[in-house]
Amino acid sequence: MKNIYSLTLSDAVERFCLPKSKAVNIFRDIYRDKAESYAEMTRTAAEIKERLAREYEFVFPKAVKKQDSGDSVKYLFLLSDGNMIESVLMRQKYGGSVCVSSQAGCNMGCIFCNSGKLRKVRDLCAGEMVTQLLYIEKDQGIRITNAAVMGIGEPFDNFENVSDFCAVVTDDNGLAIPPSRVTVSTCGLPDGIDGFSELPRPCSLAISLHSADEKTRSLLMPVNKKYPIAEVIGAARRYIQKTGRRVLLEYTLLSGINDGASDADMLAKLIGGEDFTVNLIEYNPTGGEFTKSIRFFEFYDELKKRGLRVTVRRKFGEGINAACGQLRSAVINEREMK
Ligand code: SAH
Repeated sequence: MKNIYSLTLSDAVERFCLPKSKAVNIFRDIYRDKAESYAEMTRTAAEIKERLAREYEFVFPKAVKKQDSGDSVKYLFLLSDGNMIESVLMRQKYGGSVCVSSQAGCNMGCIFCNSGKLRKVRDLCAGEMVTQLLYIEKDQGIRITNAAVMGIGEPFDNFENVSDFCAVVTDDNGLAIPPSRVTVSTCGLPDGIDGFSELPRPCSLAISLHSADEKTRSLLMPVNKKYPIAEVIGAARRYIQKTGRRVLLEYTLLSGINDGASDADMLAKLIGGEDFTVNLIEYNPTGGEFTKSIRFFEFYDELKKRGLRVTVRRKFGEGINAACGQLRSAVINEREMK
C-alpha cells in the first residue's frame, strides 16, 4: 500500500484517468478540508474513493518526542515501520518554517554532521515528507509558509520522492506553498541538481559548499571526491540560467578549517559576481574534532568586502540540539546503550 500523501495531482489524473477537476477535488478534500480518512472525503465520489483505497492508505507519523525551545520545536517522529526521523519547526514572524527529513539516515558521510553517522536505512516516500508538515501544522495550529528539505538525508539520493513532495506542497490545491519558499538542500549531486532544474515548477536550491578548496571540501565531505566543486558549481550555474533564481551556498564555519581570509579569497574567486548567496552557518558542535569558528563576523566582513552576497543563518533551538540528526542519534544511542 502506498501513502495517500505521496499522490501528486498529475498522478491522480494520469494513473486514475480522471479529469483534472476530479483530481482537484481529491486534493481539496485532503489538503483544504484536511480529511484524514476516505470517510471524511466529501467532494470525491465513492467510486473514485474505492479505486484510490485499493492502492493508497492514510498514514501519519507518530511524534515520540517533542522539544520546545520557544523559537523552535523539534519533533522526533516514529514511522509506520519503526524508523525514526526528525523535523524542526522554526517560528518566524511571518509564520512557520519547517525543516523536513528526506531519508532515515544518510549515506553521504560528511564528517562534521551527526545525521551521517547513522547510515541510510531507507528513503522516505513523498507522503512521509508531506505529513511532517501536516502533523506540525495541526499540532501547532499555525500555517506553514516555508519548508526546507534540510533535515536528515540527502534529498537528491531520493530524487523522485523529493520531486513528488515538492509537487504536492507547491500545488495550489495542495499545501499551496510557493516554490520559492520550498528549499531543497543538497550536498552537491550534479545529476540531481540538473534534474531539479528541469522540473515543471522548480523550487529553491541550496548547496552545502563549506569550502571553495577541493582538498578541504573532500576532507569535510567525501562526496566531493566523486563530484568536485567545479562540477557542482557548473550544475548550479545551469539551475540559475534555467530558473532565473539565485542559489544559496551553505557554509558552516569550522575553526581553522575553512574560516581564514584565504578561504574568503577562494570563495570570491569561485563565485564572485554571480547569482549566489553565501549562507554562513555557525557550527553546532556534535562531539567530534571540530570547534566553532571565532572568526564568524570577520569572515562575514571578508566576504562582504569581496563583493559577495552574504546572509547569516539565524540560530534556532539552542539547548535542544536542533542541529540535524542530533535528537534521532541521541535516542538511537540511548537505545543501543541499554
Ligand atoms: N543533505 C543535505 C541536508 C543537510 S543538513 C545537504 O547536505 O545539504 C543542512 C545543512 O546543515 C547542511 O549544509 C549541512 O552540511 C549542515 N550541517 C550539518 N551538521 C551541522 C552542524 N553540526 N553544524 C552546522 N551545520 C551543520
